[in-house]
Amino acid sequence: MMTTGGQIIDGKAHAATLRAGIAQQVIARMAAGARAPALAVVLVGDDPASQVYVRNKIGACEQAGITSIEHRHDTSLSQADLLALVARLNADPAVDGILVQLPLPAHIDTACVIAAIHPDKDVDGFHPVNAGRLATGLDGFVPCTPLGCLRLLESTLGDITGAEALVIGRSNIVGRPLASLLISASATVTVAHSRSRDLPDLTRRADIVIAAVGRAEMVRGHWLKPGATVIDVGINRVPRDSGVGTKLVGDVAFDEAAQVAAHITPVPGGVGPMTIACLLENTLKAASLAAAQDHSPQRPFPR
Ligand code: NDP
Repeated sequence: MMTTGGQIIDGKAHAATLRAGIAQQVIARMAAGARAPALAVVLVGDDPASQVYVRNKIGACEQAGITSIEHRHDTSLSQADLLALVARLNADPAVDGILVQLPLPAHIDTACVIAAIHPDKDVDGFHPVNAGRLATGLDGFVPCTPLGCLRLLESTLGDITGAEALVIGRSNIVGRPLASLLISASATVTVAHSRSRDLPDLTRRADIVIAAVGRAEMVRGHWLKPGATVIDVGINRVPRDSGVGTKLVGDVAFDEAAQVAAHITPVPGGVGPMTIACLLENTLKAASLAAAQDHSPQRPFPR
């Protein structure tokens, strides 16, 4: 990596601070007599990247004092059996949050499984009820990666009211929920995608650029407005320059962009660690929600 003009946003350090705060809150809850928050993690199949993600999420839970309950199944698991498992976890009062690791095998309808998770245990924030809550400005579960991006922006820039923000990518997991979060934070938001015209021109206007595309180093340094803040969500595996082995790069050409941007996240070590920290935050929120429901007939989230 070259030396940079801009300041690197250290996602690992921000995530460590967030995780330490969550661990403290878990200790305080338990000192007050509550059980540890509990996350059920469901993994179907043997996708290598998913195995790594699940291992990292379970390790992070352990460090924060959150109980994780792992459910691993062969690729052959039927959709009916997966839906039955989700129904059991929904009904289990010892489970606060449910995470079904994506992607699911091709014979399973992902949207149907997501819709089967109880919205108040949906710590990934992918359920249509939570997507609707976010889109309409109500409290609910926010997907972890966009939430991590917002946390990084707020801790780097403070108030982003009125800032011109460009989100590149419109997926349900990153781009769309991020656009909703930025609108709620009073930024002026543009969402670009594969059909957008003149992406370099859109990028040049933006104070904040968030790339969530999945194309290695697509956003170039000369596209950026000098002094912009760049959040790179992309994770792309490419051959090393030496030709031996592979490395991870983002959707932004880091070395070029860092010469122009005021602040920029690296890949790895930027958004990735924040995604896991925000999963812990959502699990703690789910546990608090369950405890509040135990004590009140009112649902804490508005319907
Ligand atoms: P998707 O493939 O679901 O979405 C990609 C988006 O990029 C689509 O909206 C697509 O447009 C748009 N796009 C594709 N090509 C172009 C182009 N040439 N110009 C402009 N827009 C384009 O990906 P995800 O949102 O799931 O993930 C995006 C990236 O973020 C991936 O690299 C993924 O690995 C990474 N990621 C990282 C996470 C982390 O924790 N750091 C978590 C989640 C994802 P269209 O809709 O028109 O097809």
